[in-house]
Amino acid sequence: MNNRRRALQRMGALVLSFGAMHRAWGAAIVGVRVWPAEDYTRVTLESDQALNARHQLLQNPPRLLVDIDGLTLDPALRELVGKVRPDDPYIAGVRVGQNAPRVVRLVLDLKQPVAPQQFALEPVAAYRFRLVLDLYPTQEPDPLLALIREKEGADQRAAQSVRDALGELIARVDKPVALPAPTPAPPTSPAATAPLQTKAPPSPAEPPSADEQRRIDRLIIVALDPGHGGEDPGAVGPGGTREKDVVLQIALQLREQLNGLPNVRVMMTRDADFFVPLHERVRKARRVQADLFVSIHADAFMRPEARGASVFALSEGGASSAAARWMAQRENAADLVGGINVASVNDKHVMQAMLDMSTTAQIKDSLKLGNEVLAPLGRVGRLHKRQVEQAGFAVLKAPDVPSILVETAFISNPEEEQQLRDPAYQAQLVDALTTGIRRYFAKNPPLARNRQL
Ligand SMILES: [Zn+2]
Repeated sequence: MNNRRRALQRMGALVLSFGAMHRAWGAAIVGVRVWPAEDYTRVTLESDQALNARHQLLQNPPRLLVDIDGLTLDPALRELVGKVRPDDPYIAGVRVGQNAPRVVRLVLDLKQPVAPQQFALEPVAAYRFRLVLDLYPTQEPDPLLALIREKEGADQRAAQSVRDALGELIARVDKPVALPAPTPAPPTSPAATAPLQTKAPPSPAEPPSADEQRRIDRLIIVALDPGHGGEDPGAVGPGGTREKDVVLQIALQLREQLNGLPNVRVMMTRDADFFVPLHERVRKARRVQADLFVSIHADAFMRPEARGASVFALSEGGASSAAARWMAQRENAADLVGGINVASVNDKHVMQAMLDMSTTAQIKDSLKLGNEVLAPLGRVGRLHKRQVEQAGFAVLKAPDVPSILVETAFISNPEEEQQLRDPAYQAQLVDALTTGIRRYFAKNPPLARNRQL
């Protein structure tokens, strides 16, 4: 009996070790995330080992197959199915299945044709190995046309609401009044072209009309850049507040305020929770020939007692202080955490040449802008430094756009973390930034543009 028990124990040990070996061959999924946005939707699979995968696009209906080796279907992977949002611009749904003994197949049902990019990321910060699938549209929409048509749409909606309000008021007056019909006349009637007649905006594929081109040339375009986003949370406060969330809230409110100024249009480098690489933020601002670039942050610092707002511009030489250099290094690391497909940055050399261009004039204007913003910010809370600091921030390197990076407060300071969450405090910050930007434009009117589409 004893021998038999020992034999069984040995067998048990053997089975156990075989089980452990089996587990060691397969990777375990530690997290699945989906980041939907108009720009692109990202699907991230995070695992304890690097994953080997290949993908294939199929038509009728459009879908993306992804086969992942050395993986068994587990509950963590199945969670992906529930993570696709109904408003995802690209993904209609996800199915997962064990395609072969050690191959898991994901099927992404698509809402429109996509140009997928697949890449892997090594462990960094709090992340283990990541397998990333970015689904881009097959044709990139023109950002300038989108801006001008967004303004047209807003004007039309405003005109419509004025007409609705007028109609309602007059209807209440007890006498017949000749009013244009509130609903559009049939297209056969020439009277349909009344001044307030709304018409559907042209599709983005059409070239701009002469009227649109004049409006584009007259526009003052402010690029607002909420830092971080998606896989990159930015700094996280002691109470769990994420930098990427508060800076987006502030930027969206600032967009509302600035869009209320005559001829000003705001272009956001991101308007949702997704990651935008640093060079892409610069490229977006240059594509619309932005007159200004304002990057908004709320970082942590080495000491929790550090407090106050700071404003940064690019430096041509070294940083203006050790703290400024440290901050720039921190911000420049965003791409590592957010995750970029290095292979897809094929115009890397062109990018580098652009970033190395002389930026003396840009820095001079950026310092002017920075000083205009610093003064009203100092009346909201305290300032970390009384002058604009300078360091080599990658995101401020558009050679032809005055660019500043505003650290609104230190999220690592418990008191400032509370303030950053407070809508009233956010509104004060937004007012201060608006005041600074208006003063800069009043003293430095933007040059007339000839914006090419
Ligand atoms: Zn930041």
